[in-house]
Amino acid sequence: MPVVAIIGRPNVGKSTLFNRLIGKRIALVDDRPGVTRDRREGEARVGDIEFVAVDTAGLEDASEDSLAGRMTAQTVSAIEGADIVLFMMDARVGVTPEDEHFANLVRRSGKPVVLVANKSEGKEGLAGAYDAFRLGLGDPIALSAEHGEGFADLHLALSEALENGGVSEEEDEDEDATGPLSVAIVGRPNAGKSTLINRLLGEERMLTGPEAGITRDSISVELLWRGREIKLVDTAGMRRKAKVQDKLEKMAVQDALRSIQYAEVVVVLLDATIPFEKQDLQIADLVAREGRAIVIALNKWDLVENRAGALKAHREAADRLLSQVKGMPLVAVSASTGEGVDRLMQAVITAHEVWNRRVSTAKINRWLEAVLQQHPPPAVRGSRVKLRYMTQTKARPPSFVLFGTRTDVLPDSYVRYLVNGLREAFDLPGTPIRLSFREPK
Ligand code: GDP
Ligand code: GDP
Repeated sequence: MPVVAIIGRPNVGKSTLFNRLIGKRIALVDDRPGVTRDRREGEARVGDIEFVAVDTAGLEDASEDSLAGRMTAQTVSAIEGADIVLFMMDARVGVTPEDEHFANLVRRSGKPVVLVANKSEGKEGLAGAYDAFRLGLGDPIALSAEHGEGFADLHLALSEALENGGVSEEEDEDEDATGPLSVAIVGRPNAGKSTLINRLLGEERMLTGPEAGITRDSISVELLWRGREIKLVDTAGMRRKAKVQDKLEKMAVQDALRSIQYAEVVVVLLDATIPFEKQDLQIADLVAREGRAIVIALNKWDLVENRAGALKAHREAADRLLSQVKGMPLVAVSASTGEGVDRLMQAVITAHEVWNRRVSTAKINRWLEAVLQQHPPPAVRGSRVKLRYMTQTKARPPSFVLFGTRTDVLPDSYVRYLVNGLREAFDLPGTPIRLSFREPK
């Protein structure tokens, strides 16, 4: 039988659920000393699913100071022994730092998770159940262990978890901010990518110029920029040159796509002496669609005579043509002379911070309330759209979920209004913002 461990901070209702799952008839609480003494186990059933339920309530290591410390060891061992983790939070309280602590343990284990928002009976539980989304453990099931509500949804989630061997969606990629920051430098042929990379590396390790062929085959190269580790990804693909012009154009976009996928921040390098071209836009759009942080660098600045005019024109064109990443940093550089390269790298580091930013649920919902008062969603063909609650489900790039009814008829213009509003209110310039909608269960 599969083993399901019930995990969560104290008082969320783990034992109440455990008792309900095993039922009085089949209660097989194992009190044998030794192996299982540190937790309660019993044969449980939800509908036609039978499993061994493990209750981790009330087992604390009194030698530790913090609650999290006291609970961690036995929680980890229960997770390790489980096929499925049933993670429980209290919908009346909402997500607490302790919940986040336990959710991190669960996420790190990679085990299939069923997220339960307990005490969801009545209206008070609604907001807390939405809040549970930001734990990044998938869709929460609104449950009332005490009143026996929500068990049909629990049944469905358990059977999915058993079938798929896991439903751990929305897993953040490596959130480790201490590793090197990976950067791709992309752009049209001859924009000056190799020259810029050489400049960053501080040595002429790559050939530049129109006749350059494949000069290196490394996938990435690391450097230290003002104490920050930077990894330039896929430098090999950037310098492969083709002979025929249109083949060259196609390859530039393909090469860009590959390096974008490896990068956190993408520098789109433009030749400032040439206006924005279709290919520049294609590449920048690709960066936004792939959800990477974007910085635009205007290269060959040494050749520009009317600098103020050129900057203004590029700024205007960028915001108009790339409205999906409005406010992205635009930095003038000269890869040949080194002018502006410091500012470019500073912009890269800042863009990375913005891309990683997390906004608290409370702040988002205060903002949402004001927005809805000022500019409520329009009625569409008699359908009343109701927007209720918003939370950030992940960063890298910042992603939000908005709960409401009939959100499918929201006009695109209103969705853009919300995204731009988020961008301004929470200072998220130049990063792609994801906004999705859910109907409350
Ligand atoms: P544990 O420490 O996680 O095992 O939590 P317990 O199962 O001991 O429950 C803690 C408190 O929450 C008890 O007072 C329960 O009666 C209460 N509780 C448990 N489930 C529910 C529920 O679905 N709704 C409400 N309102 N209270 C509940
Ligand atoms: P890539 O195809 O994007 O890698 O471009 P390269 O780095 O090979 O540069 C193409 C051409 O532009 C070369 O002749 C470079 O010397 C020149 N170039 C690159 N950066 C600058 C710059 O900042 N100023 C000037 N004037 N020329 C540059």
